[in-house]
Amino acid sequence: MTHSFDALILGGGAAGLMCAIEAGKRGRRVAVLEHADRLGKKILISGGGRCNFTNLHCRPENFISSNPHFAKSALARYTPEDFIALVEKHNIAYHEKTLGQLFCDRSARDILGMLGAECEHAGVSIFLNTNIQKIERATQFIAHAPDAEFKAPALVVATGGLSIPKIGATSFGYDLARQFGLAIREPWPGLVPLTLSKQDCDRYCDLAGVSAEVSASCNGQQFREKMLITHRGLSGPAILQISSYWKPSQPILIDLAPGSEVTAAFRDPKTPRNLSTLRTELRKLLAHRLADRWLEAHAPTSCSNPALADFEKQTHAWEITPAGTEGYEKAEVTAGGVDTNELSAQTMEARKVPGMFFIGEVVDVTGHLGGFNFQWAWASGAAAGRAL
Ligand SMILES: Cc1cc2nc3c(=O)[nH]c(=O)nc-3n(C[C@H](O)[C@H](O)[C@H](O)COP(=O)(O)OP(=O)(O)OC[C@H]3O[C@@H](n4cnc5c(N)ncnc54)[C@H](O)[C@@H]3O)c2cc1C
Repeated sequence: MTHSFDALILGGGAAGLMCAIEAGKRGRRVAVLEHADRLGKKILISGGGRCNFTNLHCRPENFISSNPHFAKSALARYTPEDFIALVEKHNIAYHEKTLGQLFCDRSARDILGMLGAECEHAGVSIFLNTNIQKIERATQFIAHAPDAEFKAPALVVATGGLSIPKIGATSFGYDLARQFGLAIREPWPGLVPLTLSKQDCDRYCDLAGVSAEVSASCNGQQFREKMLITHRGLSGPAILQISSYWKPSQPILIDLAPGSEVTAAFRDPKTPRNLSTLRTELRKLLAHRLADRWLEAHAPTSCSNPALADFEKQTHAWEITPAGTEGYEKAEVTAGGVDTNELSAQTMEARKVPGMFFIGEVVDVTGHLGGFNFQWAWASGAAAGRAL
C-alpha cells in the first residue's frame, strides 16, 4: 500500500513531533513514521520522568558542535519563551529546578500529551510500529516499511542518536546521511558517567553514593556542579557535563573544594598543626568518608607550610584519567553526527540533497545538561517545519 504526503518525518521523538506540528499548522500534509509502538519514549524517561523541557538561559555556548555558529539561527528563531508559551497554553504546571532548568511539576507525560494534541490539531498523520528500512529517491522520496510504502517530495530525518538502544535508538539517520553522500562527524556518547581504572576504582568506588560539589575541567571547559561516586567510577552533573568534552585517555581535573581554602585555619598560630585539624577542616567541605579517604591517599608529609600548600594544591587539582565511559547504554545524548557543513542553518535542509532535512540529535549539535538538548530538538524541528 502506498501513502502520499507533502512531507515524511522519520522518527516521532521531540524534534520530529515539533517539525510535524509546525509544518501541519502551515497546511502541509505530513506523516510521522515511528518504528516504536508509541511516540516520544525518550521524552517520557527524560528528566527523571519530569522532562527538563528547556532552559531559561539558553545560549549558543551551551552547545557542542564542530561549527559553534551553526545552531545560532534556529535557536534565535525558536526560543525557550516560545516553548514555554506552548506549555502554558496547555496549562502544564512547571517549575525552575536550578540554573534555569524547567521541569514539569507532574510528569513528562504532560509534554508528550501536549505534542500529541498539537499534532492532532495540525492534522498530522502518525504511523506507529512503522520501521523504515530503506529510503529511495526518484522524483520523490520513497520510504519503505515492511508492509507499506510512503511517498513525498520532502523527507525529514529525526531518528535521533545512538543513546539508549533498548528504547529504540538506531544508527538509521547516520546510515541515511552516508547513503546520500553527506559527511558525518564521528559520534561519541555524551552526558555519560565515566568509569575508572581498577586501581582508582579499588581506591574510591566503595564510596559509591557519596557526592561533592566540585569543579571538573577538561579540554578548556569547566563545570561547577555535583559529582557522584558510583560503583564503577564517577557521575553526577559535573561529570556528565565534562564527559561530553572528554576524549579517551585524557585526564580530567577535579577541584574538590572550589572557592574554598582547606588549610586557611592554619594561618592562625593558635591552630594545632596536626592531621587531626586538617581532617576536621576537610570534613567541613567534603562528606566525611570522602574527606577521610582523600586524606589517607594524599596525607601531607608534615604540617609545614610547604607541605600544607602542596596538599591544598592537590585538593584543588585531582588529576584522574578515566578508563572509559558507560557508553551508549547510559549516555543521555550522542555527540557528533551529521556534519553541519552539509546543512542550511536556516532550514536544516541538506545542501546537496534538496528536500532532505536533518533535525534534532542526529545533527552534530549537542547540548549541555539542563534542558538544552530538548531546546535544540524544538528549535531545529521548528526551523525545518517552517521550511516544508
Ligand atoms: C535518560 C535520558 C534523559 C534525558 N533527559 C533530558 C532532559 O531532561 N532534558 C533534555 O533537554 N534532554 C534530555 N535528554 C536528551 C533528549 O531526550 C534528546 O536529546 C532528545 O530526545 C532528542 O530528540 P530527537 O527527536 O532528535 O531524538 P529522539 O527523541 O531519540 O527520537 C528519535 C525517534 O526516532 C525513532 N526511530 C529511530 N530509528 C527509526 C527508524 N528507522 N524508523 C522509524 N523511527 C525510528 C525512535 O524510536 C525515536 O522515537 C535525555 C536523554 C536520555 C536518554
